[in-house]
Amino acid sequence: MRVFFIGFGQAGGKVVDMFMEQDKSNLFRGLVVNTARTDLIGLKNIPMKNRILIGQTVVKGHGVGTDNAMGAKLTKDEIDSIVTAIESIGTSDIDAFVVIAGLGGGTGSGGSPVLVRHLKGLYHEPVYALGILPSVEEGRLYTYNAARSLTTLVNEADNTFIFDNGAWRKEGESIKMAYDRVNDEIVRRFGVLFRAGEVGKIGVGEMVVDSSEIINTLRGGGITTVGYAKTEAISTRSKQNKGLFGNLIGSLKKREASEEVLLGDDRSAKIISLVRSAMLGRLTLPCDFKTAQRALILLVGPPGEMDRKGVEKARSWVEENIEGEEIRSGDYPIESNYVAAVVVLASIGEVPRIRALLDMAKETKVELARAKTDGMTMFEDGIDPLFE
Ligand code: GDP
Repeated sequence: MRVFFIGFGQAGGKVVDMFMEQDKSNLFRGLVVNTARTDLIGLKNIPMKNRILIGQTVVKGHGVGTDNAMGAKLTKDEIDSIVTAIESIGTSDIDAFVVIAGLGGGTGSGGSPVLVRHLKGLYHEPVYALGILPSVEEGRLYTYNAARSLTTLVNEADNTFIFDNGAWRKEGESIKMAYDRVNDEIVRRFGVLFRAGEVGKIGVGEMVVDSSEIINTLRGGGITTVGYAKTEAISTRSKQNKGLFGNLIGSLKKREASEEVLLGDDRSAKIISLVRSAMLGRLTLPCDFKTAQRALILLVGPPGEMDRKGVEKARSWVEENIEGEEIRSGDYPIESNYVAAVVVLASIGEVPRIRALLDMAKETKVELARAKTDGMTMFEDGIDPLFE
């Protein structure tokens, strides 16, 4: 799939930078937008001309802090220069736009919904958002910002993928280390998804997934979560023996890989197990996946390790476990020493984490309004100001 990524704000910029770093086949386009000059300078894989600083006359390149209303305003004011930059990179052969931002801050939180709306008005291609939720420890203001941004995004974007930072934090890890690790997890999952459908150096998959299937899976809008699992490294010997896919699975790792010869049924079982692990493991947005309206299963790995029957059985398993009945699946071959499964669970109906985020944001809205008036009560009675 030919994706045009736009990274908005610090988090969005860093994630797009990483997508571009790993894009060896030149499939992706990338642009980053920020109000903070230093965040743009810190990137490594985006040409300077594709780093756009907005709001210079207002915030002088220092960013908008956590003021996402300001982020939205500056984006609206300079939307033409963002679109000009997008056009100068080229949009004629792309399949979709993906706007990426941390939703708890200022620039990306405010700017990404404005850009999504604008792109939707200009292009026929779908416009998706990838929104990163702040962890609860970041405080109420971040949650409030994220709730406002997300509420706007789900109305504007063709679909919104969610990655919840809070669910991916590890005890005792510094923020910097955590972000590097977490960004890697984001790019791994979405990299597999967005590269689907492209013919690689080693040919076409047995059950090819093309861009239209990804687009159809996401057609219902709303929010979407993604699961991922991968096998142990394939040993050299098993790699030579076509069909030893099962040797790779964690449950068998204690055995010598080369000792076992798997029959077709075992291979199928291993694929089902991999897809199941992807769904039952940590999702980008942990939730009860039963309420998903559609799903897409993608398998990537060396061609000899794929198994059509296994993919079909995995598909039936997913169908039994989600409300929706539209399940798509496919594979694409890559040169690798593992097999990975990505499961896209699209248009999720109910997510406790999102409900909690919205509830906390409602409380914060009331508190913010009260704090604003409380500070002024001393001056309410008696003396008239010089002018209104
Ligand atoms: P902005 O520059 O004003 O858009 O704000 P930031 O992107 O710095 O921060 C917004 C939110 O994104 C923060 O609250 C964090 O939750 C998150 N964030 C910041 N940097 C990263 C990053 O590198 N990776 C991830 N996953 N999240 C980040």
